[in-house]
Amino acid sequence: MLARCETTRAGLDVAEARERHLRQGANRLRAHKPRSLLAILVAQLQSVLVVLLALAVVASFALGRVLEGVAVGLVIVVDTVIGFAMEARATRSMEALRQLGQVMATVRRKGDHLRVPASELVVGDLVVLEAGDIVSADLRIVEASKLQVDESLLTGESLPVDKGVRENHAETLLAERSAMLFSGTSVTRGAAEGVVVAIGMQTELGQISRLVAEVKDEATPLERRLEELGRKLSWLTLAVALAVALVGVVSGRPPLLILETSIALAVATVPEGLPIVATLALARGMARMARRNALCARLAVVETLGATSVILTDKTGTLTQNRLAVEELVIDHQRIVVECLGGESTAQFFHDGRALRGQLQELLGRALRAGVLCNDAHVTPAGEGVGEPLEVALLMAGGKAGLDAEALKERLPEIREEAFDPETRMMATFHEQEDAGLLVQVKGAPEAVIAACRRAVTRRATVVLDEKRRGQWLDHNRQLASRGLRVLALAEGVVADRDDAPYRDLTLLGLVAMADPPRSEVRQVIDDCRAAGVRVVMVTGDQAQTALRVAESVGLVESGTEACVLGVDHELSRQEQQEVAQASVIARTSPRQKLEVLATHQRRGAVVAMLGDGVNDAPALRRANIGVAMGRGTQVAKEASDLVLNDDRLSTVVVAIGEGRVIFENIRKFALYLLSCNASELGAVGVAALIGLPLPVLPLQILFLNLVTDVFPALALGACEGQSRALKLAPRPSDEGVLERRHWLAIGGHGAVIAATVLGALLVATYVLELPAESAVSVSFATLGFAQLTHVFNMRGEDSPAISNEVTRNLWVWGAVLLCSVLLLLALYAPPLAAVLGTRALDARGWSVVGAASATPLLFGGLLRLLVRRRTGAA
Ligand code: ATP
Repeated sequence: MLARCETTRAGLDVAEARERHLRQGANRLRAHKPRSLLAILVAQLQSVLVVLLALAVVASFALGRVLEGVAVGLVIVVDTVIGFAMEARATRSMEALRQLGQVMATVRRKGDHLRVPASELVVGDLVVLEAGDIVSADLRIVEASKLQVDESLLTGESLPVDKGVRENHAETLLAERSAMLFSGTSVTRGAAEGVVVAIGMQTELGQISRLVAEVKDEATPLERRLEELGRKLSWLTLAVALAVALVGVVSGRPPLLILETSIALAVATVPEGLPIVATLALARGMARMARRNALCARLAVVETLGATSVILTDKTGTLTQNRLAVEELVIDHQRIVVECLGGESTAQFFHDGRALRGQLQELLGRALRAGVLCNDAHVTPAGEGVGEPLEVALLMAGGKAGLDAEALKERLPEIREEAFDPETRMMATFHEQEDAGLLVQVKGAPEAVIAACRRAVTRRATVVLDEKRRGQWLDHNRQLASRGLRVLALAEGVVADRDDAPYRDLTLLGLVAMADPPRSEVRQVIDDCRAAGVRVVMVTGDQAQTALRVAESVGLVESGTEACVLGVDHELSRQEQQEVAQASVIARTSPRQKLEVLATHQRRGAVVAMLGDGVNDAPALRRANIGVAMGRGTQVAKEASDLVLNDDRLSTVVVAIGEGRVIFENIRKFALYLLSCNASELGAVGVAALIGLPLPVLPLQILFLNLVTDVFPALALGACEGQSRALKLAPRPSDEGVLERRHWLAIGGHGAVIAATVLGALLVATYVLELPAESAVSVSFATLGFAQLTHVFNMRGEDSPAISNEVTRNLWVWGAVLLCSVLLLLALYAPPLAAVLGTRALDARGWSVVGAASATPLLFGGLLRLLVRRRTGAA
């Protein structure tokens, strides 16, 4: 096979691999096609707004008003350019983010192990795999050890299948498959090396997915909700525009003015920019999180993160360092302490303060032999442990007791392994021995192993394990666990045949207790979560005492708290679900029960983030609202997750939740802002048209304002850093939309006040200052423009301070206000623009009206805030 793929056991050399990559192309299924610029442009032109404006252009030309026709045409161009630029930017940043999340593979090239993106694998590459890895091309196995693979993606078969190197002559279909690893499947156990025989669409998975339609980028729930909102508002617009047109016809206004007013009103209400500004804010949030080591799989994750109310976390590796070391053993009811005298290598075993000797030492050797043989880890010649830390710790302890793992395995060759099963919580290996029968070595959770043992070893003889002795052993276990140690029981047995049951008729050898120090930053993280109203719940397969002690040491629970213990694998009763919902520590949970714990919280309305890193965690990670995997976790876990923490720090989840909240708040801010500006235009023009007043702003002026006020300040609001208190408030309820009743009330209130101010300014200019009609309209136009600009500052958070808040600290907002002010002045003073818009330069009296009137929304905003605060304070 190696020769057929033109490679050797040492792998390809780097230059050859590069050359093949160019020739064979990327190892990808259906290359993801980013949206083309043309498609984005066409989408811009398909909007309701453009159709309405085009209608206005046609009408203007038909009625001979060329200048207006050209002006509206220009509006279409400007609007399309802005929409196009934003959309293209959003697409670009999504593409950049997609690059970040790519899968890596380990290959052997010229003898060295290299990590390369899986998309760069070529036929002939030698890929190295271990448990938890996802296979990213079709491979022919060249080396394997205890290999098991989950092929459910291809075959639908949920049980893992054994795989291995097969002789060439056995090339039946089945043998062929069992010597092959297929792209998209995952390694559940063991390790392997294989040569790539097919990549990309040539793989089995590629053949299948040819039939599957192209996957589209899905809109996030938020974007969908905003689009829905836009659609509803379009209907509202149509109704108002029709009413205005009707009144216009009845009161005999010129038809062109009626048409233009109706169109301008429609333009005023449709919140065109909303969904795209939301996409931009989400994409920006995703990029910001990526910079802080939290990689999101989809845009929607950013949005869900902000609503997260419960974090379910495992214990080992997340709350603790996953650096286990054997600290103590109990052999024949005697405590044996592992002490380090001046460095690891000189460690010794002590009993009652004296170095271990005699029979107890022999029994210790027998117990640790089970720990060393019933073990998948190994130690490199450099003394580094490779494998599960718990098993590495046992190997190291064996080494300290003088056991040479390699020599032991040679003398007692392993002929079968019963893999660790998180449901029985035990593992066994079978070994050939000189005496009759096969030696069985067992390790596992103390309750499980003690229950499976009939006898126990003592210094004098092997004794029957009666109820009293069982109780004593369980007491030893409890004592060790209540110090936060992870406890395992070791046992051995003899069977006649390799197919015999492993856990029958066992002899208990002793208990071994390992320390795993808590991670230092976890206490702060838990405090932060508490302040942010996010509950942290530990869900572990370990026993209650150990879990509680660790939970206490990181500040998750106070001492004296009880854990919820699930014990044997069973479906949760109603009573247990109740307990699970309340508990902060849930112990002895099987992988299936983890799913139930998750579902229990979700049924109660919680938005749940779930942390996990093992192969067994994948279903729960997928089912959680936010599955979170650590960067060091298995590929299977990472693939099933929505968020990957590249720095392996729990604190990054809290950072991500904070970011999620800020982004949601920002989206809410600009939605509120855009809609209240639109409402003010609709109110001012609608009321004037209905009661027969002259229009306070002319159709083209509305279009100009919409371009000015809609886009820049709204975009700037999307970039607010957020209230410093974002992580001090409770999470928003999961069913809360972007705009709730209170927001609609605020939109109505702000809109009405601005509209009233504008109409008031028009009346003052007309009747008090007695300005000619065009100058009076210029006063109301400028009032609307500047009032909308000052209104930006009403968008600070519900309880942010008035002067220094997230809006005033945002330089983009100041930039947008400055830019828009200049544009408004140009509209009044630049002759060509003034001619198109029909404006006149204002005198000092005009400006004093504009000044006073445009400050009103800000004053009203302050008043409204006071009222709301008093009401909620009183409630
Ligand atoms: P944690 O939350 O600490 O990460 P977990 O949920 O991963 O724990 P499991 O790995 O399911 O817990 O382990 C459950 C119990 O099974 C452990 O408490 C231990 O007693 C036992 N156990 C764990 N790993 C092994 C192993 N490799 N061999 C034998 N027994 C094991």
